[in-house]
Amino acid sequence: MNRIAGNGSHSRHNYRIFMVINSVGYIGILVHLALIPVFYCLGFPGLAFLNIAGSVLWIGAWSVNHQGRYNTAILLMTVEVISHTLLVVPTVGWQAGFQYYLFAAVPFTLFNNRFEGKAIIFISIAFCMEFLLLSIYTSDHPPNPSLPDNLVKLFGRANIVIAFTAQGVISYYFRLASIYLEQELEKQAHTDPLTGLYNRRRMLDFLLQQGKLAEREQAALSVAFVDIDHFKKINDNYGHGTGDQVLREVAEFVKRQLRKGDTLARWGGEEFLLLLPHTDLDGARVLAEKICGTVAEHVFQIDGKDYSVTLTIGLCEHRTEHPIEKSIKLADIALYRGKQAGRNRVMCYS
Ligand code: GH3
Ligand code: MG
Ligand code: MG
Repeated sequence: MNRIAGNGSHSRHNYRIFMVINSVGYIGILVHLALIPVFYCLGFPGLAFLNIAGSVLWIGAWSVNHQGRYNTAILLMTVEVISHTLLVVPTVGWQAGFQYYLFAAVPFTLFNNRFEGKAIIFISIAFCMEFLLLSIYTSDHPPNPSLPDNLVKLFGRANIVIAFTAQGVISYYFRLASIYLEQELEKQAHTDPLTGLYNRRRMLDFLLQQGKLAEREQAALSVAFVDIDHFKKINDNYGHGTGDQVLREVAEFVKRQLRKGDTLARWGGEEFLLLLPHTDLDGARVLAEKICGTVAEHVFQIDGKDYSVTLTIGLCEHRTEHPIEKSIKLADIALYRGKQAGRNRVMCYS
């Protein structure tokens, strides 16, 4: 894994590209090396030499891939497949099946991120043209008479198996790469980048979902606004960077005190929203008091300095007669009242 650090990137996405080139590389190197003695013994020194050249290119591609130069590796491999097929098929015959590698080469080029969509279409057409030309000029001819019939058949079948295997490897890593990217995008869309908590958009989904569930099951549900007191002063006195760090630490500290099933999100600024399914007002108050008390007692250490903060929490038990949005508003009212009453406390809406 370290060796792919050539371009300074360790990302999983690049790792997949590295892996697909590496796996296809092994297949290419093995096939070409194996064909050198085969063609030499059959009396085709030209083809044996072609496979030596092919092996050199494949080993070169494999090696530049290990230096993180994925696009160069793909280019080398693609050029090798195109030229090799062009020279081998007319010599050995269509029946030996060396043209099937052109199919595997098409999806392989997709991994070259320097190629745009148009270039890929163009390359696919070029592969198709090569395949058609080989078919027109060689498929009606008998295989090379110097090759035993059985060997031609063996070549034909082995090449089908190898070309499909290469396709399988490419598809497998392509799928992994796209699943990873989709998950990454979804995570980013739902996560607050500063604290790593759910963001407001994702929390709204949870709120609506839990609101419906509470109505269906006639279960208790509470929501709480958690707001850091006088947070502006932290920014003003110690700088925005320290403020950010305090936000992260507080988020982490509060999160550690929750049960599985409770959800904490960054609602905005220095305000967090807490969603407590199967929790009535009394239960929510116990938890909120605990959070409030432990935060007030805790000393947050940032860059070797100590910081203390307090929280005000506004609580509301959701009533299924009204929409969840109303409960959020009521919790916000409770928070406002908590601030008015002097902060560092839990205020329930009643
Ligand atoms: P109160 O006790 O009434 O809640 O006072 P407060 O100072 O905490 O609240 P106020 O709404 O007056 O100020 C909130 C501050 O939070 C102002 C804003 O600059 C700061 N803030 C909001 N988002 C961020 C952030 O992402 N990072 C940092 N460092 N500060 C933020
Ligand atoms: Mg505040
Ligand atoms: Mg606030």
